[in-house]
Amino acid sequence: MDVLTKLEVLADAAKYDASCASSGAPKRDSVGRAGLGASTGAGICHSFTPDGRCVSLLKILLTNFCLYDCQYCINRRSSNVPRARFAPKEVVDLTLDFYRRNYIDGLFLSSGIIRSADYTMEQLVQVARSLREEHCFRGYIHLKTIPDADPKLIAQAGIYADRLSVNIELPTETGLVRLAPEKSSHTIKRAMGSIRLAQEEAEGEARDDARRGKAKAAPSRYGNGQGTAPVPSVDAPASRSPAGQSTQMIVGADDANDRTILQTAQTLYGAYKLKRVYYSAFSPIPDSPTALPAKAPPLMREHRLYQADFLMRGYGFQAEELFQEDGDLPLDIDPKLGWALAHRETFPVDLNRAPQRIIARVPGIGMRNAQRIVELRRLRAVRYQDLIRLRCAMDKVKPFVIVRDYRPAVAESPSEQLRRALAPPPEQLSLL
Ligand code: SF4
Repeated sequence: MDVLTKLEVLADAAKYDASCASSGAPKRDSVGRAGLGASTGAGICHSFTPDGRCVSLLKILLTNFCLYDCQYCINRRSSNVPRARFAPKEVVDLTLDFYRRNYIDGLFLSSGIIRSADYTMEQLVQVARSLREEHCFRGYIHLKTIPDADPKLIAQAGIYADRLSVNIELPTETGLVRLAPEKSSHTIKRAMGSIRLAQEEAEGEARDDARRGKAKAAPSRYGNGQGTAPVPSVDAPASRSPAGQSTQMIVGADDANDRTILQTAQTLYGAYKLKRVYYSAFSPIPDSPTALPAKAPPLMREHRLYQADFLMRGYGFQAEELFQEDGDLPLDIDPKLGWALAHRETFPVDLNRAPQRIIARVPGIGMRNAQRIVELRRLRAVRYQDLIRLRCAMDKVKPFVIVRDYRPAVAESPSEQLRRALAPPPEQLSLL
């Protein structure tokens, strides 16, 4: 099989993994029509770096052969899909080639499990090591780790990769046992724990060195291009996966509700210092097993989970606070508005007196605007026009705030009435 065909198979097989955060760029190409270029080159996806830049990544699997039979996965052992496998050198060459042509800024590499977890992990590490040491590759590398692999191999991956991820796959142990019986949540969490430990050790040693005033030369992640750089020992305090670790949860493949999903995410953020949890709406796959639902969950459910996750990471919300009862997040309104409507006793908030963290909980006011409001009121009283100037989402803000020259007439409206006024109008469903 030639490299281009492999690329088509293995880029297509990687598209179900959301943990590199596709930007959802529009699909365009010039094949058979006027113009130049394409936004859908095989395997190229977009991702956001921690500093907010949007980067293009070559997103592929090393292979879609797999020994495991996870029911929700198109690449499972029993799936009838075309299979392909790259040699590590082919991935290295493709990455360098795409990089030199300015198609990509980095690599997102995952793999089905072949021969053994250790063998597969060694192959992934081999790609990253070769890029870093033999080719001095300074682009972004995100490696998906194999949880069952030897922790030393995972630690080595952290030396070369900017980000590591271990997919938790399903929010509950029961779901994992039912749909991915060869995986174990214990092993997945152990892998996450070892990544966190390695990061903390490296950070601790760097802090100690700084305190002692000696800038100890950490083993370079980048070689001299001759392949002669010493292989960093896994015990060396090189920076470990500096962009942190992330995970992905599949939504809608089992019956876990949003409350359970967000509680699991909250535990993972706390226990393993994850940078991000990605939520991937289950998509039915050809010849899917009967254990899986026939329909995908609404995409809006995935969107609401991301919004709720953002509230937990950025606004100090606890998962529990976002639910009034067991179940899913509402689809018609965002979770912050849902919380505000369920806690009318907190509102209206006087923006000239309330603490910043309470202002940030007002629907339509983000963290940055909450800070600007607090800065402004040190100089003078905040007025209605100030909120317009700050581009707050006024429809949402109005019922929930008091400022010097404004007090909401609708503050006393029942929550249900407010909800109807603020929710977008229902759309006619398509019959086709
Ligand atoms: S181990 Fe990964 S690639 Fe293999 S079947 Fe499970 S999810 Fe798919």
